[in-house]
Amino acid sequence: MSKLAWWTARPLLGTESLILACSLFFSFFSNAAFWHAAIADPLSQWRLALSLFIVVTAIHAFLLALVVNRWTAKPLLTVLLLVTAAATHYMNAYGVYLDVDMLRNVLHTDARESLELLTPGLVLVLVVTAVPVAALWRLRLRKRSLPRAVARRAIFLLVVALAGATGIGLSSQGLSSLVRNHREVRYLVTPANYIVSLFNALQASPPGAKRALLPVGVDARQATRAAGARPRLLVIVVGETARAQNWGLSGYARQTTPELSAVEGLLNFSRVSSCGSSTEISLPCMFSPFGRSDYDEKKIRTHQSLLHVLDHAGIAISWRDNQSGCKGVCDGLPTERLADSNDPALCNGKRCLDAILLKGLQEQLQSTAAAAADRVVVLHPLGNHGPNYFERYPSQFKRFLPACENPELSQCQRQEIVNAYDNALLYTDHFLASTIGLLKSEVDYDTAMIYVSDHGESLGEKGLFLHGMPYAIAPAEQLRVPMVMWLSPGMARQEGLDTACLRRTAGQPASHDNLFSSVLGLMRVSTRQYQPGKDLFSACRKPA
Ligand SMILES: [Zn+2]
Repeated sequence: MSKLAWWTARPLLGTESLILACSLFFSFFSNAAFWHAAIADPLSQWRLALSLFIVVTAIHAFLLALVVNRWTAKPLLTVLLLVTAAATHYMNAYGVYLDVDMLRNVLHTDARESLELLTPGLVLVLVVTAVPVAALWRLRLRKRSLPRAVARRAIFLLVVALAGATGIGLSSQGLSSLVRNHREVRYLVTPANYIVSLFNALQASPPGAKRALLPVGVDARQATRAAGARPRLLVIVVGETARAQNWGLSGYARQTTPELSAVEGLLNFSRVSSCGSSTEISLPCMFSPFGRSDYDEKKIRTHQSLLHVLDHAGIAISWRDNQSGCKGVCDGLPTERLADSNDPALCNGKRCLDAILLKGLQEQLQSTAAAAADRVVVLHPLGNHGPNYFERYPSQFKRFLPACENPELSQCQRQEIVNAYDNALLYTDHFLASTIGLLKSEVDYDTAMIYVSDHGESLGEKGLFLHGMPYAIAPAEQLRVPMVMWLSPGMARQEGLDTACLRRTAGQPASHDNLFSSVLGLMRVSTRQYQPGKDLFSACRKPA
């Protein structure tokens, strides 16, 4: 008689039973965010709840039945259980949706960013998930002959499909209204959301050798400079995660921009919307001729950018990066990665403060001034990159207190999170004012600076944190961004710009779509790609 203790027992299970058990596990333990978003009132919506439960379980069972067999079951389900636990943790903590853009963000995250997201909360979740994983490895899977296994699987798929159809029939009206009014909830069905999104992301841009970008604006030419005029130098600062609501210059109750407020002639654009809610979308979009108004992600990713157009016109370009790169915008153009610097005053071995972007810049500009060519330098700071806002500024900017100093935002009070975020904005303010200071001291160039953030950030409004919500449902906090411009007196004169007119323009609505033609206009580049209606300067040029 076998008298095995439970801890030495190794239950025997058919692969289909295991698939069903896993699917039920996901429905019960991995979909809190989905149930919460889809079912407002469980008592009165019990039919819809039951119907969704059956459909979600059936979808996962069907998907698993296509790939899980006696040999793949344990490794595959182990990975799935662990990744699903991590995904669920982030969805619950930050209110993120795992759509194709979010998966792209995840795929393009560098090692530093990943390390910052590895919090004690996540480690705990993974340790707890070790229990079902251990149980999985204790199982013995029933062996069957190939014809029997195939037949069983076919019947299983059929039964699961029928169950799914029955689930749909149970509340077809509730389901169709959910699909019509809240299409985005499908990005909360875990793990189907990230599996399907990963598949779509890889299909859109398969890994491997990158194709050359299709040319844009090869007809670009620069107007000849007036005799005696200095070359132009434009610094474009692509901000990170700064949102308009917390921008002192745009009326935030706190003064988060004290240094910029003191800059004479600074133009603050207070009503700017971003192209997307993530760097992956916004960055390529704001430098593209297509933009949000004519949005086509594939077209944007496969074509050259504003920087290539400027390059075609003979303007010297450089991209200085303290972040995760230029997302294709600067492909083939001079790029300097400063995030890996080891300056002891600015870097801690993991990350560098944004002031690293200005280090050596002046010397670089002086050494190239003799060429007398116009230049555009793009600075890509770390800005307010979350959730570790507190690591973005040195101690002298720790002014709004107490500041959240835990990467696990759920461990902090909301006000502490806002304090840390605002401190990081204070440092961005200082960084931008320092950049303007550097440009003011340039004697070899007429200079200008354009700063615009890539997207905003949720700081707990509507239960959301961070960013990356699908564009169609992204809240204003993630889509309204600060933008400032500064022109040296020489630049304004050379351009014939009416400053009172520019100040009026700055109060009007604008968007990332304005960047492309505004920069071409400012640099006096003519090309068929230039659209005067989108050039924020064009209405303010005094007739020559
Ligand atoms: Zn970003």
